[in-house]
Amino acid sequence: MTDEFTTDIYYDDDADVSTLDDDTVAVLGYGSQGHAHALNLHESGVDVVVGLRENSSSRSAAEADGLTVTTPADAVSQASYVSVLVPDTVQPAVYENAIEPNLEEGDTLQFAHGLNIHYNQIQPPEGVDVTMVAPKSPGHLVRRNYENDEGTPGLLAIYQNESGDAPDRALAYAKGIGCTRAGVIETTFREEVESDLFGEQAVLCGGVTSLVKHGYETLVDAGYSPEIAYFECLNELKLIVDLMYEGGHAEMWDSVSDTAEYGGLSRGDRIVDETVRENMEETLEEIQNGEFTREWILENQSGRPSYTQLRQAEKNHEIEEVGERLRDLFAWAEESNDNESAEAAEAPADD
Ligand code: NAD
Ligand code: MG
Repeated sequence: MTDEFTTDIYYDDDADVSTLDDDTVAVLGYGSQGHAHALNLHESGVDVVVGLRENSSSRSAAEADGLTVTTPADAVSQASYVSVLVPDTVQPAVYENAIEPNLEEGDTLQFAHGLNIHYNQIQPPEGVDVTMVAPKSPGHLVRRNYENDEGTPGLLAIYQNESGDAPDRALAYAKGIGCTRAGVIETTFREEVESDLFGEQAVLCGGVTSLVKHGYETLVDAGYSPEIAYFECLNELKLIVDLMYEGGHAEMWDSVSDTAEYGGLSRGDRIVDETVRENMEETLEEIQNGEFTREWILENQSGRPSYTQLRQAEKNHEIEEVGERLRDLFAWAEESNDNESAEAAEAPADD
């Protein structure tokens, strides 16, 4: 196990799917990631068996897609490469009941997120390789990109390399699901888990919704209309983020007015100031010392009382009701725009 942060990137030429010619891959779970991995591997020529509970509603879907389906325990005993794609919170139980009793020396245990390994909720035996191939995208895109001969960027990490072949086998898996077409970045379980948790808590999911709510409340409390506040603080966020995604902060600053650029540059750090930075560091510390994960495990064990309450409070926020109403009202505009551009794309050029 290496704990150094590296940034090697692998592409199709670095990987060979036939490395898995003698393997059967068990894909446990047929949700967002599971269906995409199972179908892409299958179409890449890998022998795949899907492991689902007897009463799982996904069974008929996997069978209709032409895949072999059996129980998780049976899938693991048939397989030499086990891809764990059930939800992170149920993985420890599935590991204990279905995986561990059927694992054999030389098998590979493959994850798409390092949470349970990194925080010791799953402790694999010696003699088994433990790897991670984590597409950096939701499963339906992993599938759609593959079908369109495109790739999905991914992360690759090796936790246990008992066979000596773990990197080549994980790269073969990454190629089988289409990730090496786009590029696979080498990382560690620790880096993947801690950065992922931090990103979703501090910036992407937690930070951004909190920023939007504070902005919305500030305007509405000062007497501005909820509709204006919604457009200003939520709807336009997408347009700004699209520009950042395309060309970084520079493209965004270039596209907005000089007034917006001066106002944003001179006021931004006042809004998200040093105390926010300190809160971020504290949040990262809770991730690094395992406090967040302990809290989340206990929360699940006790029936998710805080989670349920937080979810409800978020649903009840005024911005949700205003947004729902406005999105309905303005849906016709977006649809007719889409139709116009589709027609324009199809229409023969005049010249
Ligand atoms: P999901 O919730 O979409 O799918 C879960 C699947 O597991 C379903 O088919 C469900 O029927 C099955 N399942 C649930 N409980 C089960 C049990 N007790 N026994 C057997 N099967 C059970 O999950 P997902 O989002 O695809 O996540 C799978 C893994 O992929 C997780 O480790 C997650 O962190 C990782 N991941 C997800 C995404 C994403 O965008 N969804 C991205 C990268 C990595
Ligand atoms: Mg086996």
